[in-house]
Amino acid sequence: MNVDLTEEQDQLRDAVRALGRKYGHDYFVRKAKAGEHTTELWHEAGRLGYLGVNIPTEYGGGGGGITELALVCEELAAAGCPLLLLVVSPAIAATVINKHGTEEQRKRHLPGLADGSQKIVFAITEPDAGSNFHRLGTVARRDGDDWLLTGRKVYISGVDEAGHILVVARTEDTGKLKPALFIVPTDAPGLEKSRLEMEIVSPENQFLLYLDDVRLPADALVGQSLDAGLPALFAGLNPERITVAAMSAGTGRYAIEKASAYTATRKVWGGRSIGSHQGVAHPLAHAAVQVELARLMIYKAATLYDAGRDLEAGVSGNMAKYAAGEAAALAVDTAVQALGGAGMTTEYGVATLLGAVRAGRIAPVSREMILNFVAQHVLHQDKSY
Ligand SMILES: Cc1cc2nc3c(=O)[nH]c(=O)nc-3n(C[C@H](O)[C@H](O)[C@H](O)COP(=O)(O)OP(=O)(O)OC[C@H]3O[C@@H](n4cnc5c(N)ncnc54)[C@H](O)[C@@H]3O)c2cc1C
Repeated sequence: MNVDLTEEQDQLRDAVRALGRKYGHDYFVRKAKAGEHTTELWHEAGRLGYLGVNIPTEYGGGGGGITELALVCEELAAAGCPLLLLVVSPAIAATVINKHGTEEQRKRHLPGLADGSQKIVFAITEPDAGSNFHRLGTVARRDGDDWLLTGRKVYISGVDEAGHILVVARTEDTGKLKPALFIVPTDAPGLEKSRLEMEIVSPENQFLLYLDDVRLPADALVGQSLDAGLPALFAGLNPERITVAAMSAGTGRYAIEKASAYTATRKVWGGRSIGSHQGVAHPLAHAAVQVELARLMIYKAATLYDAGRDLEAGVSGNMAKYAAGEAAALAVDTAVQALGGAGMTTEYGVATLLGAVRAGRIAPVSREMILNFVAQHVLHQDKSY
């Protein structure tokens, strides 16, 4: 077993860390509170090749894998810039289009995703389906060569920043779920969006989408064959779980680093730091252990995925997502406590992450649905639903 990164991965990690620190959490929060996006950071990361690390070189990417993209997600988050759209655009959309799109779709979309000039967001969740995607109600009907898409989607991240949305629908002519993915322009007639007010300090927004007979040309269908739908949908899942886990682990590291720097110097009982009290230090140490354990599982999952071992990567990726989501929530909460009143200020930049890490236990797949997956696929238990 090798626990070391390659030299190139090490260099990538250091370079992304430097970029993240150049912007930092203050920038992230300032943008969020002003209702703006982290455009400068996104474009610089794109120019430096970090957004396209997992995209093949022939489409302008770095030719690496999900391991490299996980490093990017983790290091930006560890610098206080957890960018959810990294999970949506390069991890999900680029993987789906690269693996299951047509050559024409790859040529049209991947270079822009690689250099950051384009974003494609991802819409699967629906108000009446939620965790149960077998109940998807967004329907695609044929109209001549075109498709007409009708339905509703909820909590869709980044629609205001993206040129296209990868929409998961099902085709009308099949009785059972037969998913089909469509690349839908965000300005398509018949598509309305409404921003949701969320209790998360983030420059990225969530939207409710209404699709009312959105007309799409035949080549909007990913892969241009209805059989491509299910494998295309599953292709996005492992990269999504692994990169969102990496973002959570980075956020956990950021919070622990902030808190331990504070507790090592803060003195309120004579000459000793508050960190010398085990009641303060042990919870931080415990959180650090949880984050590090999650990181091990993240890079195990990424390594398996990049080796083409999808089924094993599915188990590890789900476990990594669960572990990292829990560890990040614990780390941020513990950090807030260790900072006392300062923990709740905007200035110290820890409580600003409470909403995001809480959401990380719900999205993109909830902790309960991961436990269901592990119970069924690892422990061979019957399904209750
Ligand atoms: C910040 C944020 C960003 C998001 N971005 C996107 C995005 O870009 N694109 C997108 O498509 N979606 C997005 N989502 C949606 C997210 O994926 C869903 O919220 C999530 O999958 C849960 O679905 P739901 O909210 O409908 O919960 P529900 O399915 O209604 O579930 C509610 C609760 O019940 C639990 N539950 C449900 N069924 C079971 C069961 N069988 N066993 C045990 N527990 C169960 C769930 O775990 C959850 O705790 C985002 C959500 C958030 C919060």
